[in-house]
Amino acid sequence: MNTDHASGWTGPRHALVIGAGLSGSAVAHSLASRAWTVTVLDQGDSVGSGASGLPAGLAAPHVSPDDNVLSRITRAGVQATLQRAQALLQCGTDWALSGVLEHNIGGKRRLPTAAHGATSTSASAAQIAAAGLPPDTPALWHGHAGWIRPRQLVDAQLKTKGVQVHWGQKVSAIAQRADTWVALDAQGKTLGQAPLLVVASAFDSLTLLQNLPGFAVPLNPLRGQVSFGLMSDLEADLRATALANNTPPPKLPPFPVNGQGSFISGVPAPHGELGWFIGSTFERNCEQAPVRIEDHAANQMRLATLLPSLGEAMKPQFRPDRIHGWAGLRCTLPNRLPAVGPVDSQQLPGLWISAGMGARGISLAVLCGELTAAALEKQTLPLPPDLVKHVWAERYART
Ligand SMILES: Cc1cc2nc3c(=O)[nH]c(=O)nc-3n(C[C@H](O)[C@H](O)[C@H](O)COP(=O)(O)OP(=O)(O)OC[C@H]3O[C@@H](n4cnc5c(N)ncnc54)[C@H](O)[C@@H]3O)c2cc1C
Repeated sequence: MNTDHASGWTGPRHALVIGAGLSGSAVAHSLASRAWTVTVLDQGDSVGSGASGLPAGLAAPHVSPDDNVLSRITRAGVQATLQRAQALLQCGTDWALSGVLEHNIGGKRRLPTAAHGATSTSASAAQIAAAGLPPDTPALWHGHAGWIRPRQLVDAQLKTKGVQVHWGQKVSAIAQRADTWVALDAQGKTLGQAPLLVVASAFDSLTLLQNLPGFAVPLNPLRGQVSFGLMSDLEADLRATALANNTPPPKLPPFPVNGQGSFISGVPAPHGELGWFIGSTFERNCEQAPVRIEDHAANQMRLATLLPSLGEAMKPQFRPDRIHGWAGLRCTLPNRLPAVGPVDSQQLPGLWISAGMGARGISLAVLCGELTAAALEKQTLPLPPDLVKHVWAERYART
């Protein structure tokens, strides 16, 4: 594996990107910001046809006692995403640096023992109380974290000058002709071409790449469903519960809470009204993403574990006439880290990938886009070399 980028890109600065989700739009933005011309192809009709259509999700760090590789990379990724959100998005409607309380269920999460530049701490009594949790609840506070609506970020990144997006373009095959990579439809018609091709089509990348010599990135699908509803219904229910029990209404946390699942409230739902969200399910070996009633039940149980008194008060929200759902396919790799960079720089020059974001695409895709562009432009990489090698796609290259 070669993670030495001293040579950089010497060809024309034109890239073709397949996939307009968080990964593809981040690559497109990072390249176009460095004066590349970028063409993006996506099979969907508009933003969010893949996992990045998630209505709302979290950019939050991962902590471990030894501040392991996953923790360090995720922290760098969260930092990159929050900076990008600050630059491109509307605070309060598209994202917020809200902080995230982690209900440390089973005490499994432990903070780093030494000072590692981590921004997480034990949650204070006031933060635990604000979440409506009992005072002895084990909890962490991630101050440098928040919620994001991924579609908004994708849309903003694709609007970068120099990026052209073509919707409704399903790529069925790719081929190298002389120094150019070509994307073809099912009839063999050329949909786009450029000297650099970045495949960012998540799990579908496998169909395009699996027969190429040298390709061995073990991408897997991991279906997930989030359940959501409207704040207006929720608040009425919480008031009714309080009246019936002659107690104060259960507390809605003023920030997202995660643990085994995550709860976000007061964030615009897909049609604009303020909503609440609980997710998400994890289902392996499933390549379709229908919304399922049984997954709403699983998310209801998740809420009951994460925020017990709120979960009790929110039972009516899970009635079939109230509950909404969104499901998508995450694209995962065995070590929960993505695959970025050349697929095999020797055998497949000019073919790069940015995929395998798993359950952390919000936290990782922007960083991967920057890594891609910095490596091509021979600039300082946004991660130290001892971390780059853990995300570099060529770690999987077949020799
Ligand atoms: C339920 C759920 C909850 C999640 N919650 C969080 C969270 O809270 N925080 C977090 O960080 N992450 C979360 N994630 C993960 C995150 O959504 C993903 O990691 C991220 O969206 C992946 O982005 P992507 O661009 O790699 O893939 P996608 O968004 O799937 O984009 C791939 C794109 O490629 C296009 N495409 C595919 N095949 C072709 C083809 N042949 N030709 C042309 N175009 C093609 C698709 O149309 C799609 O637009 C969640 C995911 C799910 C499912």
